[in-house]
Amino acid sequence: MKVVKLPKSKVEEFLSSLQDFGEVIIPKEKTEHPGVYYFDVMENPSEMAWEYLRTIIPPKKYLHKPREVIFKFHKEQGYQEVIEDKETKRILFGLHPCDIHGIKILDVVFNRDYMDPYYYARRKNTVIIGLSCLPDEKCFCKSMNTDYVEDGFDLFLSDIGEDFLVAVGTSLGDDLVAERAHLFSEVEEEDRRKYLAFRKKRNESFRLELDISDLPYILDLEQKSPIWDELGKRCLTCGSCSMVCPTCYCFNVYDTLNLDAKSGQRIKQWDACLFKDYALVAGGHNFRENRAERVKNRYYHKQFRMVEQYGKPSCVGCGRCIDACPAGIDVVEVLTKVREGSYVTH
Ligand code: SF4
Ligand code: SF4
Repeated sequence: MKVVKLPKSKVEEFLSSLQDFGEVIIPKEKTEHPGVYYFDVMENPSEMAWEYLRTIIPPKKYLHKPREVIFKFHKEQGYQEVIEDKETKRILFGLHPCDIHGIKILDVVFNRDYMDPYYYARRKNTVIIGLSCLPDEKCFCKSMNTDYVEDGFDLFLSDIGEDFLVAVGTSLGDDLVAERAHLFSEVEEEDRRKYLAFRKKRNESFRLELDISDLPYILDLEQKSPIWDELGKRCLTCGSCSMVCPTCYCFNVYDTLNLDAKSGQRIKQWDACLFKDYALVAGGHNFRENRAERVKNRYYHKQFRMVEQYGKPSCVGCGRCIDACPAGIDVVEVLTKVREGSYVTH
């Protein structure tokens, strides 16, 4: 893999120049809520929140949109296809390894049996530039093997002090560097040592661990565990854990009619398996009527059925759901208790 060096003194110039390619999305800090971050369009490179760790909503919102019109219809004029942001060239800048893994999972999900044209129209115009990070007490990506990336990015910036080491992941990434060659220089021996020191520090910084060895097998054995009923009593079924998750992808599709009563649009909108109506089918039967079944479903989908279907769990250890849950339900605590068979009611 080609690696070059970008001095921090030139990184804002680099960020500005990326606007020649298209829309640049960066993590920003909410002015009214210091310490809270969100991805948004860059107006000025000084807005970049280099220190951010996790945003409220992951960058999936630019690929799998929270709500989008997928076609319009009219009684006389017929059907009109709509793919929102189809022509928008976009750079997702500053993604941490867990979020890059989240997109890698969505790439597979949306192109398994059937290619989702809405996701992929945006995905093919999206450049991913990653950024290294140091974990906090809610990060457990190391346990999920998503604390580093070997692919899934065009460029990846690792912070080694005064400079970034920039790994080039694709030919497009190589072009982005070549077109701005005056900003980059060769990696020297001292830079290599700084990178190794950074990796060591990062590895030693993880405080939260989850043992996922044979977890699908344990979950299969614990299908009838009282844990699920206990969680069902605590869960408010607000769906926050799904909305903030970089790998949750469920959506609903419905039509809305305009006031003229002869035209309308079909909408695709995020949904969550935690919601009561999610498993409601025609005839009024609900496959997951009670909360315990719905909470349990989320855990089994991520850690059991995704392993069966795709060979790995669909949790990347970002800690967002731990942050977001108003009932204090913590995925690491739950799965550890399942393994120990010792869930404690709060
Ligand atoms: S389940 Fe929670 S920790 Fe895992 S990827 Fe989703 S939001 Fe992140
Ligand atoms: S965020 Fe917490 S309370 Fe809300 S649905 Fe998820 S587990 Fe339940």
